[in-house]
Amino acid sequence: MRIDRVRIARVPLRLVAPLRTSQGDHTSRTAVLVEITADDGTVGWGENVAPEGAFYTGETAAVSLDHLRNVVVPALVDDADDELDDDQLDERDAAVSAMPMAAHAFTSALADVEARQRGVALATALGGTPRDVRVGVVVGLHDTVDAAVAECMARAAQGYTRVKVKIAPWRDIDVVREVRAALPAGVELHVDANGAYDPADPGRLAFLDDHGIGLVEQPFAASEMRAHAVLAARIATPVCLDESIPDFAAAVEAISTRACSVMNVKPARVGGFHAAVAILSLCSRSGTGAWIGGMLESGIGRAGCLALATHPACTHTPDLSASDRYFAPDVTEPFVLANGSIAVPRGPGLGVVPRRDLLEGDGSSIETVFER
Ligand code: MG
Repeated sequence: MRIDRVRIARVPLRLVAPLRTSQGDHTSRTAVLVEITADDGTVGWGENVAPEGAFYTGETAAVSLDHLRNVVVPALVDDADDELDDDQLDERDAAVSAMPMAAHAFTSALADVEARQRGVALATALGGTPRDVRVGVVVGLHDTVDAAVAECMARAAQGYTRVKVKIAPWRDIDVVREVRAALPAGVELHVDANGAYDPADPGRLAFLDDHGIGLVEQPFAASEMRAHAVLAARIATPVCLDESIPDFAAAVEAISTRACSVMNVKPARVGGFHAAVAILSLCSRSGTGAWIGGMLESGIGRAGCLALATHPACTHTPDLSASDRYFAPDVTEPFVLANGSIAVPRGPGLGVVPRRDLLEGDGSSIETVFER
């Protein structure tokens, strides 16, 4: 396959509500979409999901877009053409590892093109099966416990059967106790600290064992692999890692050191679907739980994550909620929650495309970054 054109579209989206974590607030979102046109006219889409602030992995929307435009596209655009020499392979690997979200934006668009050319759903191309997937929802930090409980109850009423609550040292025991007491028994509760706890004090999190929590995600900073292993040995609540797993090597280390028993696999965080599938397969072989996390994707990024969430190695409910949890409107036709599940598109590739009226709407832009 030969690439004839690459364009980057920017579409401002309205977040229905800001999402607050222990590291910062997501208050706005511009969807950054990559459109690849192959020489047979097939068009595929990807999304750069880097957040606007530097509070997740440090890859911010602005630097990631710059890297996508100036490094990833020039390094990868000829990939599909011919065999690459060693220098080209080095250039490609460096472009991917430096900014995994920018790399994923490009390579996921390429995966969409290739699946459409083969006439198969992306879910199938990634080793899964297009089907309905039970999904979970994330509830951010609130000013009061009552507000957090109210949002959790509203999400359960919408049909979500797994709620993940953000916690921080200043808002944890109270919110966990009250939310668990309020939620119906059939709704699973997870918590995510985004690295907010002190690794010198693992006993601080022992309270989780008293509340039937399905897992605790990323209690300590990303680099604290050993501290996670100490905690995992100390509490019964399963420890899940997110920010600590930027690539396959980190996944190997986490499993071999028993730093976690569950992994949150985000294709954008690990540099693409290829690495994500490799990590999922590793989890499956090692008996490690796995699920697909979300990055406030628009419908383009979410369609890719939903496809990946059908992979047989996924043991836990993904953080991939319906469009109306995030945006009004979404950049694609909306993903709708029905009986706690979202239908993974059955059509070729992603099975969805951006709405033309939004691509051409107020504040949107489309830039050609490569043309043969
Ligand atoms: Mg997380």
